[in-house]
Amino acid sequence: MGMNLEIGSSDKSNGASLAVSWQNETRLAEQWARVRACLLAEVGEVEYRTWLKQVSFAGLAGDEAVVMLPTRFLRDWVNKEYGELIAEFWRQVNPAVKRVEFRAGAPSARPAAPDLAEPAQPALAATPKRQEPVSALDQRFTFETFVVGKPNEFAYACARRVAEAPATPGFNPLFLYGGVGLGKTHLMHAIAWELAARPGGGRAVSVAYMSAERFMYRFISALRSQSTLEFKNELRSVDVLMIDDLQFLIGKDNTQEEFFHTFNALVDAGKQIVISADKSPSDLSGLEDRLRTRLGCGMVADLHATTFELRYSILEAKAQRAGVEVPAKVLEFLARKITSNNRELEGALNRLVAHANLFSRQVTLDTAHEVLHDVLKAHDRKISIQEIQKRVCEHYNIRLAEMSSARRAQNVARPRQVAMYLAKQLTSKSLPDIGRHFGNRDHTTVMHAVARVTELAERDAAFAEDIELLRRMLET
Ligand code: ADP
Ligand code: MG
Repeated sequence: MGMNLEIGSSDKSNGASLAVSWQNETRLAEQWARVRACLLAEVGEVEYRTWLKQVSFAGLAGDEAVVMLPTRFLRDWVNKEYGELIAEFWRQVNPAVKRVEFRAGAPSARPAAPDLAEPAQPALAATPKRQEPVSALDQRFTFETFVVGKPNEFAYACARRVAEAPATPGFNPLFLYGGVGLGKTHLMHAIAWELAARPGGGRAVSVAYMSAERFMYRFISALRSQSTLEFKNELRSVDVLMIDDLQFLIGKDNTQEEFFHTFNALVDAGKQIVISADKSPSDLSGLEDRLRTRLGCGMVADLHATTFELRYSILEAKAQRAGVEVPAKVLEFLARKITSNNRELEGALNRLVAHANLFSRQVTLDTAHEVLHDVLKAHDRKISIQEIQKRVCEHYNIRLAEMSSARRAQNVARPRQVAMYLAKQLTSKSLPDIGRHFGNRDHTTVMHAVARVTELAERDAAFAEDIELLRRMLET
């Protein structure tokens, strides 16, 4: 996507670099007209008039098409929402264009492109017509690529069920919730793909998938252009409506109201609704009560924080799909270290794979450390020694003060050693640093604790399991 540069703020924006011969200019103006025709065909009249009509073309700078918008707000908005689309159409009409740069300012005085009284030419044959939901769906997010484990098996089963038989009583609405990166969007796309791939015969199921944010902007643009009726009708004509990240509607009262009505109309008409949010309906404070009530009426399924096993399986599946051999040791290392969410996990693996391909090198534990240095560091910071101490005390049912006390009775000394051991394993703190957190103990005491716990864990399977459990609880 283009960078946001103000006119005059960079070398690229000086007049010379934008200068083009007259002949070129005519050709470019024609191309711009085609880009606009494609945009119009793609987004429809209403959206086009609301957002895109004000985009003007300033010229070509190297491989960048420079377009102008009258205000910074519009520039940022159009760039964010349509930047990729505009760039895509530019690349189609003129392969020399690689990127589009969005600038704010008055359109230049050069001759404008032919206006679009009507689409100058039919949209390019290759242009995908924006079809709900297909344009918005990620091809990788299917049921086949979704790895099922304890934390997500229920949500997965519900999603499967909805994809097989939309609008089954008890499953409508389907409300999926869970923290960032746990697979909500993936499951929603999977449902949509599954429905889209249904063997013909019956009428094709029409699915509309969009984020709550997108819902809001479409609603607002409809209000502006006085086309709310079209908007309503369009939404109410689908068989399955999916709204992702519903929490975005908190505090957006008008949009919530509109959504509530759409929701009711669809459910009453026997259509399926699928919603995702970061919290359960009852915890989504700021949502209107009546909406909250209706949201909780169908099936509510949560995606729990990942476990080591799930993370490991996800990595294994993704490495296999990428066709790169990643040793089990490395998978295990990543699954232990990167515990926040699946997105980061995937990102880390992708980097490893890219690195391996780029340098034709095998993936090893060393390369993993090297390539993922920054990610791993960020993760180390996440678990604090205090947290470890708290967990360990809860687990062994002793007072937090015992972590720093001088008592040597085994029922407190052993948990203290376990906490030291975990602090060494799960944080990047040095031995002296760890010692300080445990009543200013010497670093040799910490070293001794680590050695002792390691040794015990090797001898005593129950103890090892205990440690593993604590580690997992801390990591998730
Ligand atoms: P959310 O919408 O809950 O924030 P996403 O669905 O966007 O999370 O998932 C983030 C990333 O992790 C995506 O790339 C997704 O494919 C991947 N992912 C999440 N859960 C799984 C899973 N169970 N199996 C495979 N990939 C997963
Ligand atoms: Mg999501």
